Amino acid sequence: MGLTHMHIKELLDESRAHACDGVGPDHVCVKIAAIAEMPSRFGQFHIVAFYNNKDDKEHVAILRGDVTNAGDVPVRVHSECLTGDVIGSLRCDCRDQLESALRMIGKMEKGILLYMRQEGRGIGLINKIRAYGLQEHGYDTVEANLALGFRDDERDYSVAAHMLESLKVKSIQLITNNPRKIADLTRHGISVTGRIPQIIRPNKYNRFYLETKANKSGHLIDFAGKAHLPEQADPPIIQGMDEKQMKWVIGSF
Ligand SMILES: [Zn+2]
Ligand SMILES: [Zn+2]
Repeated sequence: MGLTHMHIKELLDESRAHACDGVGPDHVCVKIAAIAEMPSRFGQFHIVAFYNNKDDKEHVAILRGDVTNAGDVPVRVHSECLTGDVIGSLRCDCRDQLESALRMIGKMEKGILLYMRQEGRGIGLINKIRAYGLQEHGYDTVEANLALGFRDDERDYSVAAHMLESLKVKSIQLITNNPRKIADLTRHGISVTGRIPQIIRPNKYNRFYLETKANKSGHLIDFAGKAHLPEQADPPIIQGMDEKQMKWVIGSF
């Protein structure tokens, strides 16, 4: 069953009355501003739009089922990637990760995808394209990755944690291949009762991951010899990887 009218009203009323000192280094406070049904190709969801008092980043939660006051709710945290999510760029695997998470949650009784409007893990679109450009012009991947690597994961998770609190979720099971994320969310006050690995279906675009070749800076290289920079804070596990490959991929994050 989806979010009830009573719970929608309750969430909106409580957010309207909510005030706090904000979370993370920038003291961000988010409030639920609007909720609507969202049927999608991945199933029936509700979409929750958050107002942000600091940087105009309108984060979004995609809800499956009535998660209010629920425990052990499967949760995926996804960082916005305009080029991958929307345009279908093959420079990253963001769209594969997003679709796989939505497909998984869409089949569950309850679940949440937090869509964080922090392009390129917080560095912004311009800097991300700049990093792509650096790679193209022969700069070392390390340099390009440094440009992509400037981010503040702590701040990211503090806002994600605030969103889960606004949604009145009691405890979560994190959908991730990155065990470190559990500690981060826990530090921000979220009760994490478990981890659900995300295994992506192989396709002709991500098949190179199955070979997991590393270059000297430890990045995955595709068949064309281009290094893929990790844009989601999550190592991609593709169906068909063996134990050794999985260990390598997870260890490289
Ligand atoms: Zn707040
Ligand atoms: Zn991406």
